[in-house]
Amino acid sequence: MPQRRGSADRYPTRRSEDYIPPKTRTVKYQKSFIPATVKRWNQLDKNVRDKPTINSFKATLKKTYSVPKHNYYSYGKDKWAVAHTRMRLGLSPLNQHLHSHHIVPSSCCPHCDESENCIHLLLRCPKYAASRSNLFGVIGPTVDKLGIGITNEFLMSNLLLYGHEQLTVHENKQLFYHVQSFLKETKRF
Ligand SMILES: [Zn+2]
Repeated sequence: MPQRRGSADRYPTRRSEDYIPPKTRTVKYQKSFIPATVKRWNQLDKNVRDKPTINSFKATLKKTYSVPKHNYYSYGKDKWAVAHTRMRLGLSPLNQHLHSHHIVPSSCCPHCDESENCIHLLLRCPKYAASRSNLFGVIGPTVDKLGIGITNEFLMSNLLLYGHEQLTVHENKQLFYHVQSFLKETKRF
């Protein structure tokens, strides 16, 4: 079992209850069960992690992170709407998706060293920084309203891929419109 940060820190901090991720040298090990699970656990909201029983944990997890299927998933008809859907399904031309289906030899991004997955394209790759900045300029008020921190990549990419149940159908469609405009600007599809 990995050690918690709190036991290594002198003073308790906001992240003191995080588990310390094992040192990983290779992307393959990084994505293996323990390092990947530690990373995901550390990204969970505290109210989910603190549940005292398995059942209350499961129920809160489902309520907090469940991805409802909504009619706005079919929003948009052009190729970027299709790209958006394919990203949700893990069937996009992103190299990690192609690599997982043995279509390309490497999952690496064509522009940098990281694995090219949805989070990478939407939130990380420096190549798309300008387009991303435009996207977040427009959707900023929506993100603020939901209280999703920019550093919570898991929740943020879920929002961009799936919308959010606290938004109206119209707001979700607007969000999808802006995400799909971003996808178009990346010229990756
Ligand atoms: Zn990249």
